[in-house]
Formats: sequence, C-alpha cells, structure tokens
Amino acid sequence: MVKSAKCGTMPGEGPLSKDSLRQDFAKEYEKYYSTELFKEEGFVRKKCKLCGKYFWTADPNREICGSPDHEPYTFIKDKPIDIDLVSFWKKFAKFFKDNGHEIIESYPVVSRWRQDLYFVIAGIQDFQRIENGRMSFEYSANPLLVPQMCMRFSDIPNVGVSGRHGTSFIMANQTAFNYPKEGYWRDRTIELNFKVLKELLGLKKEEITYVEDVWAMGDFSEFGPDLETYSHGLELVNNVFTQFEYFNGRMRELDGKVVDVGWGFERLPWFLSGTHTMYDVIYKKELEYLYKSSGIKPDRVLYAKVAGALASIDIAENRGSKAEEEMLKRLGIDRNSYFNVIKPMQAMYAIADHARTIMFAVNDGALPSNVGGGYNLRVLLRRIFDFMEKYSLNFDLMRLIEIEAKNLKEMYPHIDESLNETSKVIEIEKGRYDKTKAEAKKIVEALLSKNKEITTEKLKTLYESHGITPDFISAAAKEKGIILEIPEDAYSEIMADDFVEARKKKNEVIEIDTTGIPPTEKLYYSFATEANAKVIKQEGNMLVLDKTPFYPEGGGQEADHGTINGIDVVDVKIANGLIVHFLKEAKHFSLGEIVECKVDKERRIRLMAHHTATHLISAAARKVLGKHAWQEGAKKGEDKAHIDISHYERLSDEQVKEIENTANAFITNGIKVTAKEMERKEAEGRFGFSIYQGHGVPSGKLRIVEIGDLNGNLIDAEACGGLHLVGKESEIGLIRIIGSYRIHDGIDRLEFVAGKAAVDYINSIEKEIKQIAAIASVDTDKVGQGIESKLAELKEVKKKYELIRDELAEKIAKNLTMEKEQVIIKELPYEREMLRKIALSVLELEKSKAVLLYNSDGDIVAVAGKDSSKSAIKLLNENAEKIAGKGNKVKGGGTDRIAEGKVLKQE
Ligand SMILES: [Zn+2]
Ligand SMILES: [Zn+2]
Repeated sequence: MVKSAKCGTMPGEGPLSKDSLRQDFAKEYEKYYSTELFKEEGFVRKKCKLCGKYFWTADPNREICGSPDHEPYTFIKDKPIDIDLVSFWKKFAKFFKDNGHEIIESYPVVSRWRQDLYFVIAGIQDFQRIENGRMSFEYSANPLLVPQMCMRFSDIPNVGVSGRHGTSFIMANQTAFNYPKEGYWRDRTIELNFKVLKELLGLKKEEITYVEDVWAMGDFSEFGPDLETYSHGLELVNNVFTQFEYFNGRMRELDGKVVDVGWGFERLPWFLSGTHTMYDVIYKKELEYLYKSSGIKPDRVLYAKVAGALASIDIAENRGSKAEEEMLKRLGIDRNSYFNVIKPMQAMYAIADHARTIMFAVNDGALPSNVGGGYNLRVLLRRIFDFMEKYSLNFDLMRLIEIEAKNLKEMYPHIDESLNETSKVIEIEKGRYDKTKAEAKKIVEALLSKNKEITTEKLKTLYESHGITPDFISAAAKEKGIILEIPEDAYSEIMADDFVEARKKKNEVIEIDTTGIPPTEKLYYSFATEANAKVIKQEGNMLVLDKTPFYPEGGGQEADHGTINGIDVVDVKIANGLIVHFLKEAKHFSLGEIVECKVDKERRIRLMAHHTATHLISAAARKVLGKHAWQEGAKKGEDKAHIDISHYERLSDEQVKEIENTANAFITNGIKVTAKEMERKEAEGRFGFSIYQGHGVPSGKLRIVEIGDLNGNLIDAEACGGLHLVGKESEIGLIRIIGSYRIHDGIDRLEFVAGKAAVDYINSIEKEIKQIAAIASVDTDKVGQGIESKLAELKEVKKKYELIRDELAEKIAKNLTMEKEQVIIKELPYEREMLRKIALSVLELEKSKAVLLYNSDGDIVAVAGKDSSKSAIKLLNENAEKIAGKGNKVKGGGTDRIAEGKVLKQE
C-alpha cells in the first residue's frame, strides 16, 4: 500500500521507519497485536523461521508465517468449483450487513477529492481528505463496507502472468471510524475476520495465520500496526489499525482511530474456486468470449505445470524475461509451447483486465492522453492492440467491454452509462495507434540497423515521443528476424506514477515575514469594494492589512486592482491566509495607520462576469459533450478568459458553437447565482464529486457556488473560492467563444469573453469591419460581398504583377549574361526574391557564370553555375565585408551552388 516509505526523524525517538516501528510494536505485542479471539481459539505467537516476522497460528506444527514467498499455493484444485464473483459479493455484503455494517456504493475510480493521486489506489482513499498536510475522514456511515474499484499501474508486466495482479481490482473496504467514540477496534475486527474465513470460505483455524506488520502512509502522516491474514500461501486480507499520526515532527495517538480492512475481494472467490489463476474466476465470461472469437484453445494441462512457478516470479522486478527462461529450464518445459500456448493465454488475461480498467476510467471521465493518469490508459489500450496483432486475436473490444459491464452491473449500477463514449475513445485511439505504427516501423527499422541493444531509456523515449510501446518494438524486430531482448521492466518505467507531481499544490512563496500575524479578514466575499483598514505590516512595496476588500489572485481569477491611500495596487496575493497587497510605489505607512482601500469596480465586475461564465461554459460542455468533459483549468482576466476542457478528440467548430449556444441559452432563460459555505459531507452528498471541477481543495467546509435557473433547477455547483455575479446576474450579458485550440492531447482550450468584455470585443470587430470597408470602398452592410469581389480583383492584379515581374527578371538576366566577366557582382534596386530570380535566370542561360547580386537593404544573393568552377558560399564570404561596409557584419549561409546573406547594420 505504501509506495515509497520516506524516513523522517522524530525528535528524541530515533528515526521513524517501518523497521523501527515494527520493533517498537512487537515489544508491546499484547497492546498492539493480541486479540480476544487469539486467546479463545488458542492462537499462539511465533517467530517465522524464514523471515523473522512474528505471526499467530493455531497449528502447533507451523513454523513459518504463511507468506507466498515461503510456500506455494495449496488451494488450487484439480477440479475447480464454479464461483460467480457477483453472487459471492452478495453473500459477503450480507454477512457484513448482518453484522451492523452499511453497504455503500463504490466511489468513482478517478480521484477527484484527493488531488495528489490520479486514481483511487485503495478503498480507504474514498474517505480521506487532506487539508494543509493533515488527513481527516469523511464518511456517510459507520461502520461500512464498500466494493471500491481501485487502479494501480506499477505492476503491468505481471498482469496476466502472475495469476493475481491487475491494473484494476476490487478492494472491499471494511471500515470503522473514530474509535473509541464510534466504530470498533481490534477485537471486533479479528472476530469478524475469522468468521468470514470460517463461514464464507470454510476454513479451519489451523489453516489461517495472522502476521504482524506495520502500515504507514508514504510520509508517515498516519500509521499503525496491521495484521495480515494468510491461508494456503495466499494473502487474503490486511487488517490495518490506523492509530497514530506524525505531524510537525511529533508522533501522537489519534483521537479518532480507524479500522481499515482492505479485502483483496477478488481473491476470495478465487481461493474458494481453486482455479489456476484469479482471472479464470473473475473474467470467466470474458475469457469464454475471447477464446471463442479468436479460435484459441486454452491448454489447461500445460498451464497447470507453470501456474505455480508463474505465481512466484516477479517480472516487474528487473528480472526481465530471463526469469521466464530460467523457469522453463527448471520445469523442463519446451520453449515453443510456452511462447505459442501459454503466452497467448496470458495476453487474454491481460486484455480482460486492461479492458475493465479502461471501462471504469472512461465511465468516470478519465481519457487516454500523453500526460499524467491518461497516459497510463493509453498504454493499456496500446498493449491491447499490440496483443491483438501479435497473436492475431480477432475479437471486438467493445463487445468484450459490454460483457464486463453486464457482469458487474449489479455491483456497479452506473457502469454502463458511458459505453458510447468508451466506444468512441477506442475507435479514436485505434486510429492513432495505426498511424503511429506506420511511423514506428520506420523508426524501429532505423534503430535496429544501427544497434541491436535497446535500453529501457531508449524504450521510454520511443514511447513518450512516438507512442511506440515495447511490445510493438519487439514485434517489429521479430518481423526482421531479430529476437530483441526487451527489458520486462520497460512498462513499469514508462508508466506514470500513481501520485500527481505537477498537480500538487505548492504554497506560493512571498518574501515577507508573516510569523505571528493573524489571517486577514476577507471583505470581498460580502462584495465590498471599499474599506478602511489598519496597517499590520509593510516590507518594501508589500502591505498587509487587518482586513481587505481586495480579492487575491486564486482559482484562476486574477487579483483585484485599485488604490490604497491613492497609491495603485498592482497585484494581490494570498499565502497561509495572509493577504499581501503589492503597491506600485513603496510609500511608507506607520504600523496601526488607518488606510483607505478602493477596489477598481469596473475590473472587479469584469473578473466576476468571466468567472461565472466559466462555470456556465463548463456546465454547457458537460451537457454537449458528456460528463467526461471535465474542467482541467481556467483563467479569468479582465479582457478575456479561458477554460480547458477534456475531450477525446479535437472539438469541432459545431461543438464549440453548440457549447456557446447552450451557455447563452442558460443566460437567456435566466440564471441565479448563490455562494454559501456548506459542510463538505453535505456538499459531496448533494452534488457529487463534480463539485471539484475547478480542482478546489476539499476542506471541512466548502464554499459552494451554485448556478440555477429561475425555476430552481441546478445548472452547475462547484466548490469555488472565486467571486461571482451574485445578485448581479444581468452583468453577464452574453458569452462569446473567440477561439478554441488543443493545448495538449485530450484537452481543448476555449477562449471567451463575457459581460463588458464581450461588448468591447464586438465593438472592436465592428470598428475593424468599418475600416476594411472604407479601404475597400464598399458599404459596411455589403462588406462580405464587396470584399469577395475586391479579393477576386486583387488576385487578378497579383497574377498580372507576377507575370510582369518574371518577365522583368528574365530581361535583366539576359542583359547580365552579355557582360564578359565570369563572375558578375552587381547592386540592383530590387527586393531579395527578385534578386534570386534574376541570379537563377542568369545560370539558366549561362552555366559557366557566377553571380552575386545585392540591394541597398543589405540583401545578398550569390549563385554559381555548374560549369563555373566557383563556389557561391565562397563568393558570398569573399565579398561580404566590402558590401557590408566597415564595422557591419553579414549573416548568411548556403552551398556551393546558392548562398544568401543579410547585412546586419550596427546601430
Ligand atoms: Zn515468514
Ligand atoms: Zn470557480
């Protein structure tokens, strides 16, 4: 669960690391690990003979902890039992419901509420909110159980191979919050745990071990002891007891402790069923379809021989296909049958997994792209296409996804809502893939002819700059008869990290010492534009007041401008609740002095109009394009604004127009804007996670900006700290989208104007039309038609002009060839293009000549005929100084045949 454990140092407590915590907790195991059930059922604590970890067992003969590192799976059956994932879920959910848990629906897989992650990587993440580096929990029931679909992309090479890894997986989170005030703790957790294993999986107590360990967030902000449950070589569940926090260099016990039991849910029906891989159970129908449509028959007997070994090799861990080769040798299995029979089976397992991941991600509005989390989705699709090609699999990817949606509908009732969009996304990505491939073939061929070794670094570059996947390279090489050693960790290398680096919010650094100063009182939320305030601190041109009507730059909205005691305020920023005004001049104020603040009202209203318009366009985009059209960024300035919207293809002019029309229709029908503080829980419950559109930070209390129509129907609701046209709705006037372009793959930017800025925009266009009309001497109302005929006229004139020019060039060239010299150097009163034409015409007539022409603007053109034994570039260099004049330089270049230069005159 922990991606990277960074070790910090706690004052007086030694280094904070999992190892030291493990030792600390083990010393007091009665306090941290022992439970009532262990005593009642006769579990005793032992130290593993192989890894040294402490574990609890009821089997007197057991000496090892039960980790799959030590023992093979012993739950695999010769005749597996048929178990259905969803039916098993119903039994599982009923068990927890009967034991006082509320069953809640899975959250989206795209992590909207915790923006340090692209996707949900663990069930507990549903309830975590991070604010100022501190974690808090938001939950609608307690205790609860949620079948959270999670995604992780770090193990791609193992997916389809190990029998249990997936890019998507269901973590059934059994969670109890806020102990001891609510919820429950270790005794109840392990009691329930044991009951599930006994009643639902039919296990005897001797078959179960509980291993002591430590769980921690990557930065140790929260941690606690955990008990991992193993049976027959498989880890079934991890029972985490989040008991401590580490904040501001101190470790302390949490007031509200959390039981976080993450059931690797799909392992349970697998364990019961006893098939060779987990995929055979969870993707039963999908695999049936894949085998049937591709005509491939699974060889289960052969698979049985390798399944155990495959479960224990980790090809993501740098060992590459060497690990597989070693395995084949050890088991005495023929290489050909492995690569021709087992590998295609593994490909189908991976395809079923990847398709499900794509389905869930797109349904929650994530799209393939070349950045961030979308990058991982593109890799998955390309892997599917690569597999289809490599093993000639003829199946319909959308059909496969429909089967998956149908299977999971009961557990995930909304899963089939975006199948149309998914289908479009796949179509577009396939088109891109085919195009890339044609290009890629050439690149790979060039690469192979030079060097047979392809490094992971090179693979990474090939993927990032050309979208060529490692599998594709190996296939292309094979076509050339070359067996390429592709490092199997290549995929782990090219995948984006689960954690969002770029989006991590950094506090703006303002060079002013703010220690001990209380947060500034914000008057702008009550729409004040004037106020008298007290000077709290001043440094240079930076001024801090006790309160202010000035809105500081934030949420893409530019800062208010105006004056303080008549001095211009040119910028306003906020850091840690403190608002800093930047003055045009550094005038001295005395501390405690009362100053007069005046906000530029015109600018304020323009910024507000653009902000409200942004929310309207965002709502319109979702209405026109679908719910995946997420707002990825925005900027609201005084004269114009923009919003970045995610969509799987470049927006057409029609779509842009439709978005504009929809937004304007909201306005014509009448809008009402309100802004009010709301409990986060209430806001998330009422409006869903789309309130985080503008990437607002989910804090305990949210400022919700709601736009509704006059009948009270909701148009848009977002957590937003910006200023809006509350009570001034008519100021929005109209919205005009003035430009649209793709800023990067998957995201389009719409530039727009609204309110007064829209009026300015229209006026400026009208003025321009009048000017053009005047120049073209046509009536402004007939400008279109007038310009058209004028343009046609202009074209004619230009054609005539070009004819005359060419004729002239030829004439001049003819005159020049009359001269006796082999090298002709001449100043002529024509522009560069004409000089070039003349010079080339001379050569056409006389191949033994060389010509250098220049004009008074400093343009130089030199050409040398084939039979001239002269070099044009030499000719240019030899004469440059003379033409340029003293102290001036000539910039230029060329070849022996033609060279050009320009005199750079010194100022
Ligand atoms: Zn062990
Ligand atoms: Zn906003």
